[in-house]
Amino acid sequence: MEQSTAKKPIRCKAAVSKVAGQPLEMVEVDVAPPRAHEVRIRILCTSLCHTDVTFWRMKDFPAMYPSILGHEAAGVVESVGEEVVEVSPGDTVVPVFSGQCGDCPDCLSDRSNICSGLPFRFLPGMPRDGTTRFAFAGTGEPIHNFINVSSFVEYTVVDVAHLVRLGPGLMIPPDKACLLSCGVSTGVGAAWKVAAVEPGSTVAVFGLGAVGLAVAQGSKMRGAKRIIGVDLNPDKCEIGKRMGITEFINPNDTGGKAVSEVIKEMTGGGADYCFECIGSTAVTAEAFSSSRMGWGKTIVLGVASGAAAPISIPSYEILRGRSVVGSLFGGLKPKTDVPLLAQKYLDEELELDEFVTHEMGFDDINGAFDLLTQGKCLRCIIWMDGASAKENGNGGVNVKPKQNGTLV
Ligand code: NAD
Ligand code: ZN
Repeated sequence: MEQSTAKKPIRCKAAVSKVAGQPLEMVEVDVAPPRAHEVRIRILCTSLCHTDVTFWRMKDFPAMYPSILGHEAAGVVESVGEEVVEVSPGDTVVPVFSGQCGDCPDCLSDRSNICSGLPFRFLPGMPRDGTTRFAFAGTGEPIHNFINVSSFVEYTVVDVAHLVRLGPGLMIPPDKACLLSCGVSTGVGAAWKVAAVEPGSTVAVFGLGAVGLAVAQGSKMRGAKRIIGVDLNPDKCEIGKRMGITEFINPNDTGGKAVSEVIKEMTGGGADYCFECIGSTAVTAEAFSSSRMGWGKTIVLGVASGAAAPISIPSYEILRGRSVVGSLFGGLKPKTDVPLLAQKYLDEELELDEFVTHEMGFDDINGAFDLLTQGKCLRCIIWMDGASAKENGNGGVNVKPKQNGTLV
């Protein structure tokens, strides 16, 4: 099949977002063949990250409709466009929203993972020509793609700069590879590369979704002594502790005290590293206030719902040696670092299994939105072939937690 479909459009199933906040609609779409530097891939499985939810809810620009969301996935190369030599049909690949062209000053520098050759934008359009490869079957009306990936569809087209090949030595299961496509890599990378957490340090993690818990895991791997988790959802305490959190704060249970006051009291002045993993500018300010004078560092990972939403930090407080830095994809260079994380998983140094709390078939994708927005899952793996969900013991039809899924 991989050979016979090359150079022709493929008609397949997609979950299309037509109206902000409304359930995705299952429709037939035509996926154009890849152009130069592009690769068409068959999605094996995808999962839902909070960034998809943020854009699914967003009424205004930069959200655009109709669109195919989804950016955490694992797939197999179906066909390649001209100039593509890095991957071939049949290769297992992980798409990443953030690119690595390999040639720009940023890709050539150890100081940056923000590729300036193909700059990342929260805007639709393929990175080189701004057009889409998706159209409704029948009418031909175009459908926008989403942050260079669009994985809520059986086949998608991705620029080769946004693909990581997992070679034969890195054969990790697709659902685990999928986690490395965004959320877990972002969190682990932020602790390793952006903060470079030091042994014995104190860390505060605001928001214990997959990103925040991956920060906790990365911080633990780097030897952090205390990892304080902050979340409004009390269910995150138990799973957080299994994944490296040493103390838990529910902002609703502080007797009216600001979380930053509680953290300063607990740590004798503030945490060495504070991570915002929610997407709230107010929480970013609180994270900053929780950081220690002299060297406290706040790392912002959350994607706020307003692209230009300002972050307010007291001017005299930043004079006291604290710093704030933001990060896309946890400071990781996809092609260089995702294979390293896959190897760490194979070497049993990186926990991925715990992040998969639910699995379902593609037709039930709206159920994954319910689970994530209700705080009931970390990652729900959506198998394009519902049978794979069945093989994994979850029926593929109904939303069922995995045996070790503890959040429902
Ligand atoms: P998630 O929905 O799984 O987790 C968010 C957690 O925050 C939940 O446990 C929720 O209960 C908690 N929370 C919400 N509001 C809170 C508040 N006011 N105080 C305390 N806790 C609160 O999300 P996720 O998939 O882990 O993503 C987390 C954030 O990271 C999102 O903003 C997402 O867009 C962003 N993200 C950024 C990057 C990047 O490259 N920078 C990559 C992936 C995800
Ligand atoms: Zn994401």
